[in-house]
Amino acid sequence: MSATIESSDINNIHEDRYQYTSDWLISTKRSHILQSKCVSPFICDKTKTAIANTAADTVTDSLTNAGDDGHQQQPPPPPSQMDLDRLCMTCRYEQILELPHMPDMTYANNWLTLVHSSGFRLEFNCLDALRLVSRQLPAHLKVDAAAEWMKARADSEFTKVTKKVFDWTFTTDYKGTITTSSVVPTTDGHEDGGSVVVVEVVDTDERIDIEKLKSKDEILFYDEVDLFEDELADHGVAKLSVKIRVMKQSFFILMRYFLRIDNVLVRMNDTRLYHEVGTDYILREYTHRDAYVRDLDISTAVLIDPVQLSQHLPAIDIQCHKLYIKQQQHQQQTKI
Ligand SMILES: [Zn+2]
Repeated sequence: MSATIESSDINNIHEDRYQYTSDWLISTKRSHILQSKCVSPFICDKTKTAIANTAADTVTDSLTNAGDDGHQQQPPPPPSQMDLDRLCMTCRYEQILELPHMPDMTYANNWLTLVHSSGFRLEFNCLDALRLVSRQLPAHLKVDAAAEWMKARADSEFTKVTKKVFDWTFTTDYKGTITTSSVVPTTDGHEDGGSVVVVEVVDTDERIDIEKLKSKDEILFYDEVDLFEDELADHGVAKLSVKIRVMKQSFFILMRYFLRIDNVLVRMNDTRLYHEVGTDYILREYTHRDAYVRDLDISTAVLIDPVQLSQHLPAIDIQCHKLYIKQQQHQQQTKI
């Protein structure tokens, strides 16, 4: 069996697609980094004003309807997808994330997706990873890097306007985004009597068999996609990337968040996923590791190499799950 990889280049986005067995369509996309400024101010300003007005109307309505019984004012609803789609990618990121600053290199158009024939979809993208960045300053990290980081970005208009704090290490425990189609129609196109796809996430003691992965199984498809990277104002690196290796009998994914604050701290959040052909689940292992550099007796060469470094970092948190992809008969709800 020879690998057939289809490629395309549309609007500066390069995409590779690989059909793996009859069940999986695997694709990777990559493009340039997110622009630091809005690329279509006319449309974006208009849309942002509309979003702000909708939010203000909602707050006014909730105040009017609150009465005297002390009801709390409702927070404004999030912007509609239609409004967000009108914004350029830079404004969309600002609107959704409300982060005072994006990583130096934010790969908004990069992602890895795996779509199963059932409708199950597993995706790794930058936006969902950054959604999980804390809106608090990182604890126990009162180091020069923090002050330098803020100083280096003091000229950013957005920083001045918002004055918001956040975790400038961009630490994320993102494990990928899972979506399922709501209803898979029957072959004649009717939804009633079709099936819904559900994903059951179950704790497990089962681990990914690393020895199996070391076997010389032919690699049919391989790719690595960067999602973001920041140099912490020249005080280290914070980086998130994902890679996939597809073999005849299985596929393996490793997404790694890597943080190194020079002379202070190293951190690694790894998500590994493994699926064997013929099984109905994906094994997922999440490992959080970190350590202060002063507690590690290792060379600088090891400190800057995540692969070697991972052998020296203690695991603080390990979460192992099986993701079962299940199709269930769609029951039409009957009103009584
Ligand atoms: Zn814009």
